[in-house]
Amino acid sequence: GPGDVRADVLVLGAGPGGYTAAFRAADLGKSVVLVDRWPALGGVCLNVGCIPSKALLHAAKVIAETREMAEHGLAFGEPSIDVGKLRGWKDTVVGRLTGGLTGLARQRKVTTIRGYGRFTSPSQVQVELADGGTTTVDFEHAIIAAGSEPVRLPFVPHDDPRVMNSTGALELADVPRRLLVLGGGIIGLEMATVYHELGAEVTVVELMDQIIPGADKDLVQPLHKRISQAYAGVHLKTKVAAVEARPEGLVATLEGETSTTATFDRMLVAVGRRPNGPEIGAERAGVVVDERGFVPVDKQMRTNVPHIFAIGDVVGQPMLAHKATHEGKVAAEVTAGQNSYFDARVIPSVAYTDPEVAWVGITENEAKTAGIQYGKGVFPWAASGRALSLGRDEGFTKLLFDETSHRVIGAGVVGPSAGELIAELGLAIEMGADAADIGLTIHAHPTLSETVGMAAEAFEGTLTDLY
Ligand code: FAD
Repeated sequence: GPGDVRADVLVLGAGPGGYTAAFRAADLGKSVVLVDRWPALGGVCLNVGCIPSKALLHAAKVIAETREMAEHGLAFGEPSIDVGKLRGWKDTVVGRLTGGLTGLARQRKVTTIRGYGRFTSPSQVQVELADGGTTTVDFEHAIIAAGSEPVRLPFVPHDDPRVMNSTGALELADVPRRLLVLGGGIIGLEMATVYHELGAEVTVVELMDQIIPGADKDLVQPLHKRISQAYAGVHLKTKVAAVEARPEGLVATLEGETSTTATFDRMLVAVGRRPNGPEIGAERAGVVVDERGFVPVDKQMRTNVPHIFAIGDVVGQPMLAHKATHEGKVAAEVTAGQNSYFDARVIPSVAYTDPEVAWVGITENEAKTAGIQYGKGVFPWAASGRALSLGRDEGFTKLLFDETSHRVIGAGVVGPSAGELIAELGLAIEMGADAADIGLTIHAHPTLSETVGMAAEAFEGTLTDLY
């Protein structure tokens, strides 16, 4: 029958993809209904992802920098950490942003409905309201932005309160004495950085032969070296084979070259995220969900059902907020009849660890696998005056160029603020810049950004100034 509410555009999920799509569609004159099960808009990124993690990482950075400066004549003593107050500040940061979204939705007259939505047909979604009861929404277009969830492991006692996923780790209930981090990817290592600086003895276990397996091995080496020295352990090519919840702790069996057991007070499981495609009644709308749970889409973010779109984590890798927002705009514009496409050449990745690791475009690994002929320009930060004046010399900037055209096709940066520096390289790749364009661009001295120009000069053989 006819639904309780009607929308030109129904958006399912209010994360970075969903709220962006909703706002863009409203700006283009559409009546928009935005459905989310959570009390605050913003999805994973604002509530339990990008933003709370970056607030805590800032605290970690302040601690690390004051400790480092003690070696250079500026000592503050041990930090006194009020975990409750830190948690409160992190929650305030999140609250300001999610509250801002509520205001922006109201300004645009986007109707928000709080509850769990599922398709009941190709033109209707039913929402189990958070306050009880149900409502139905008839739509002309739908945009699926249902995001993803942390992966659970069968041999881990997830119901034990000492076992956390990223959401639990961000709650910052306490600082455990011994923390096991299962998974040496970006999320695991960011939370390891936080808990290490707050005083936990952190052990990281990674199945692959390097941390952050998507990045080049040389790029993650400075981070690997630093955390190997600072943490209780960083174990590569190691798997957690069993975890037993005992009163005295979580006893984990680690299988690497040898098999050992160790006891931990808490454990963070950060082994990846799975898309929410299977949870939304897609079959009732005729929308295809693949065997991994992703919703396949074309370059206009259309699913196999032409008036239903999907964006963000639920459509595939990389599961990043800035990919979701760009896809959200495309989907909204297409529902409004515009001829928009998602045609980004590259999407940057950043680990906000210490040091930060950032890369964009093709990696050396990928270039080698694909047989792409490339040249390389590297500038080590040991020769950067700015890096040394920050008390850090382990970073480097690496640019990859197409061997014939000399256009930049990939870049990696490791060191403090690498996540900020990678932006210029994304722009360079999008604009088809070559090594001369980058090398001849005058970067301010002394900045970390000038290492980008110098890496291009290193490739061209014109590098003269090492400072
Ligand atoms: P999500 O943000 O996952 O939002 C989906 C929304 O849909 C949620 O609000 C959910 O409640 C709702 N929902 C799902 N199903 C239903 C349903 N059936 N009915 C109603 N509501 C539903 N990315 C970065 O780019 N930078 C970072 O620094 C970064 N840090 C991260 C740190 C952590 C700890 C984590 C976990 C992730 C991080 N990410 C980061 C990834 C980023 O959070 C995601 O890529 C991004 O949130 C995806 O946006 P989305 O719109 O696809 O979906």
